[in-house]
Amino acid sequence: FQSWNLSQAKINEFTVVPVSNDGQFCEGKQTGNGHKFGLKSPAQGYDVEADQSDTLTQNSITSLLSSKFRDVAKRWRQYGVDSPRFRKRLHSKWESMNYEIIDSQLQRKLNEEKVSKRKLAMLMLSNWLVYFAIGIGTALMAAGVQIIVELIAHQKFSLLKTYLDKCSTDKENCLYQPILIWMSINVGITLLASALVTYLQPMAAGSGIPLIKSYLNGVRIPGLLSLQAFVAKCVGVVLSILGGLACGKEGPMAHSGGIIAAGIGKGRIPWFKKYIDLYGLFRTDHNIRDLVAAGAASGVSAAFGAPVGGTLFSVEEAASFWNTELVWKVFFSAMVACFSTNFLLSAYEGHPTQLSNPGLVRFNTFPNLTFDLIEIPVFIIMAAIGGLIGSLFVVMNYKLTVFRQKYLHRKKWIKVVEASLVSGVSALAAFVLMFTIKDCTTAEPYNGHAFNTTMGCDGEGHNAMSTMFLTTPEGCLKALLHDSYDNYSVLTLVLFVTVFFFLGVWTYGLSVSSGVFIPSLTIGAAWGRLIGLGVIQLFPNQVLTSKAKDVGKYALIGAASQLGGCLRTTISLTVIIVECTGDITFGLCIMLALMISKWVGDFFTTGLYDMNVEVSGIPLLSWEPPPLCDHVYVSDFMSQPVMTFLPVEKVGHVYECLMGESFNGFPIIEQDPNCDSRYKGKLRGIILRFQILVLLSKKVFCQEGQVPSNQNSITLKDFQKTSPVAVRIEDIQLTDQEKQYVIDFRPFMNQTPYTVSLNFSMPRVFRLFRGLGLRHLVVVSDEFEPIGMVTRKDLAKYRAEIKKGMLHMEHLT
Ligand code: ATP
Repeated sequence: FQSWNLSQAKINEFTVVPVSNDGQFCEGKQTGNGHKFGLKSPAQGYDVEADQSDTLTQNSITSLLSSKFRDVAKRWRQYGVDSPRFRKRLHSKWESMNYEIIDSQLQRKLNEEKVSKRKLAMLMLSNWLVYFAIGIGTALMAAGVQIIVELIAHQKFSLLKTYLDKCSTDKENCLYQPILIWMSINVGITLLASALVTYLQPMAAGSGIPLIKSYLNGVRIPGLLSLQAFVAKCVGVVLSILGGLACGKEGPMAHSGGIIAAGIGKGRIPWFKKYIDLYGLFRTDHNIRDLVAAGAASGVSAAFGAPVGGTLFSVEEAASFWNTELVWKVFFSAMVACFSTNFLLSAYEGHPTQLSNPGLVRFNTFPNLTFDLIEIPVFIIMAAIGGLIGSLFVVMNYKLTVFRQKYLHRKKWIKVVEASLVSGVSALAAFVLMFTIKDCTTAEPYNGHAFNTTMGCDGEGHNAMSTMFLTTPEGCLKALLHDSYDNYSVLTLVLFVTVFFFLGVWTYGLSVSSGVFIPSLTIGAAWGRLIGLGVIQLFPNQVLTSKAKDVGKYALIGAASQLGGCLRTTISLTVIIVECTGDITFGLCIMLALMISKWVGDFFTTGLYDMNVEVSGIPLLSWEPPPLCDHVYVSDFMSQPVMTFLPVEKVGHVYECLMGESFNGFPIIEQDPNCDSRYKGKLRGIILRFQILVLLSKKVFCQEGQVPSNQNSITLKDFQKTSPVAVRIEDIQLTDQEKQYVIDFRPFMNQTPYTVSLNFSMPRVFRLFRGLGLRHLVVVSDEFEPIGMVTRKDLAKYRAEIKKGMLHMEHLT
């Protein structure tokens, strides 16, 4: 029932129809005892195994299926996988990567070339140098972004402070001025940020982590790793933060790091729509994939000053294929990135040797990060709250994303207007809160250089709300983590959380470069502080905290829980936060917070990044095969009949086939001499559509019985140079004479494609694809003839969910 959307209502639409032994429906034919019956839907049918089929009625089949699936649904729940899925569709525009190394005669010739020890050593050294360069490049980018943001943000908030202080006195009474200035700055800068992303480089939108994750999973995303995307990402994220949006620059660092890695790996510089080639050692999809994993890790490492956390983030969230060697290289890059960022930022502050700025955002050392065991239940409750608020964030953002796709994103200008509106509203909301909540405090902010205003405080102290809004989201996070317990009143915090939560939901998904790490941490830190205040009130003489009245650790647990509730990443976030705080003692509490918030969140929804992937229709292969699919065999979901080619084919025939079908892989068979059919024969290899297109465009064909003059000049580099999506069959022009020629696939085809037999179960096939990074798998008969094809997208299409107590196994299209 894999291919049906099987629900009670649907079952009633099906009719019972006799089925012949080869699985065909044979309506209207005489049936006898022992004859199989099938259920036929208006579109499709499936064989129901029933021996006493003449007693089988539609009702009995319905009840049989219901009971069977109710049972399955119960077991399914035990796996805890019945959280609602988001939009269930896949876009065919996302093609797969060719991570598998093509074992062709060309490749073998290269492998057999004698390589001296020295050359091998040089190759290894250059490989490490590339990983080193990724770390350095990422650090330069991260430090550059940080310095620019800090410099301009300082000017912006200092201007606003001057106006707010001046205009809030009775004498001047010109508060319309600062709000107009604030809104104009925000709207103007965000307009630029959004126009850049919307009109020039849509790939730079959002944090980029879901796309990097999909790329590493094996999905080709055109433009994701381009130079234009890099520029738009870096400039865009600076503009988004200066535009006053509730977003961070840490997530986009992973994407930018990935682009730097791919750029360094490819070793070529774009120059007026052409490329200047520097070196081409690491240009295969396989190599670039590993480098991008290192780039993503370096980005996170530079952002948080957390090399171990960055590496684990890449392992947990992004990369799909790992081995110890790769982890070591990725860690090396991440460490270089962290160290270099530290050096650059310290040098910028005038003390390069002190290395006191390991990342863009540091939670800084907490003076009192000890805890009492009796506090753990409070932390657990906080974790559960984090899971709840996190999943609320995901659901609301999902609804908004769907709404945007339906109504707002049809026209590009609407995207720009929406982003500008959000930035204007952000400024207005902040101003209204500062104006209406007269929370004046004399407590010194932890950061002596933080901006605040005396608005509404008549000379006594400063406006507490302003400390959180007259700064970047990172500054606000640090203030919430470190300011003393009496810096903010309960009302201030409640209103701040509410407003910032809605702004965060509204901002994520706008057509601008923006990350969700910092807003999530900030929301969590604010409600964590509230709980800390509550604990101090409830147990004034009890807890360790009450002596120091330290709400910082509650803010930290709140931040961790909120982030865990949104992203559902556990190990890496634990390590990142521990590395950021520089205190391992509290690691246990942070781990508990992240683990429980993930469990609670998973009960309601998938994580934010997974939601993004599903909404975009990207065919991602998850870590594990869909549960309870042990009974599904490859014969149930393979495509057949298979379109095959002979080792030497007529060019005209190949051209027609490629024009008629969009398949990306074609098994090569050796025609059985005893059989007339040209489609029957033993499997000899597989050739990719892209390879054929390169051969046709380079005209590697000749008259029958001859060898093409240019056959020997074709090298592997010719295939690596061209982007697989850049060549299209429609662009290849062939004369009638050329169509009579023959093309020889033998030197280029993969001679040892992965094959399985018909009785392979789905979980085994799934693991093969996941473990080996396959794109195609050929199903062969006992005679080694190709009888079916399975692609990674075929597997990704399998989703399952439970609706009204029934299990749905869907084959998405
Ligand atoms: P991707 O585009 O990522 O490679 P895909 O599934 O779209 O994935 P295609 O090669 O376009 O890949 O295949 C489309 C469908 O056709 C798949 O269901 C696949 O099983 C089937 N298919 C692929 N190659 C052949 C072939 N040579 N003969 C018959 N069916 C094929």
